[in-house]
Amino acid sequence: MSAPQPADEKAIDSSILRDIEEDRFASWEPEKILTWALKNFHPRLALSCSFGAPEGLILLDMMHRIEPGSRVFVLDTGRIPQATYDLMDRVRDRYGKNLEVVFPRAESVEGMVLADGLNLFYESIEKRQLCCRVRKVEPLRRYLSGVDAWVSGLRRDQNVTRSDTAKVEIDLAHGGIVKINPLADWSSEDVWHYVRENNVPTNRLHEAGYPSVGCEPCSRAIEPGDDPRAGRWWWENAETKECGIHVGEESGGSGI
Ligand code: SF4
Repeated sequence: MSAPQPADEKAIDSSILRDIEEDRFASWEPEKILTWALKNFHPRLALSCSFGAPEGLILLDMMHRIEPGSRVFVLDTGRIPQATYDLMDRVRDRYGKNLEVVFPRAESVEGMVLADGLNLFYESIEKRQLCCRVRKVEPLRRYLSGVDAWVSGLRRDQNVTRSDTAKVEIDLAHGGIVKINPLADWSSEDVWHYVRENNVPTNRLHEAGYPSVGCEPCSRAIEPGDDPRAGRWWWENAETKECGIHVGEESGGSGI
């Protein structure tokens, strides 16, 4: 008899759980992991793509080749730049894909702005994390409650907070669903090589010096040689630079 699952956690097939525990996926290439994931979870599997970094678009490209009906969602915080919306439209045209756009709860945004103003994130780490929780973390949790597994473009060398990312793991912060990070061991060079070889569409702000593009007020260009995450929440130190998406949400930390 299998071990009982907590009421709010998903039951995962025992053979998949064993494979994750034994880290069977550690040496698998991204396409092999995605083929496995689509076979086991589609259509209750979705890719999280921010349209602000090439990794999500690479995964979209790979997943679309394997399964044209593969699902992609994006969190629209209400503060993302026009370049990101333009890229979403390019991707819709190129791949003929419907994007699942997830918005924050209007009443939560209205309450936060009423209490703390529109640009609260510059005032303190706590207020920045509150904004990320309202605009990213809660919408993500709501969306993920409807799937059994999700795919992210996390890479280990992106930040100190991501250095132990596994290729397939259990996401305890989101009800124990499966989280798949096929590019965990890719370098930045691997990423841009794939983009060039496959003509993958990317955000035009990269050409203006943005290594990654998040919300407009919290992203900026960096100088050559700067840490790639230096353009995000640049007024904070590296240890706090997560939005709560890729860490235990209760930490209020906060990763797209
Ligand atoms: S990145 Fe900035 S604007 Fe976007 S949700 Fe977080 S604090 Fe708010």
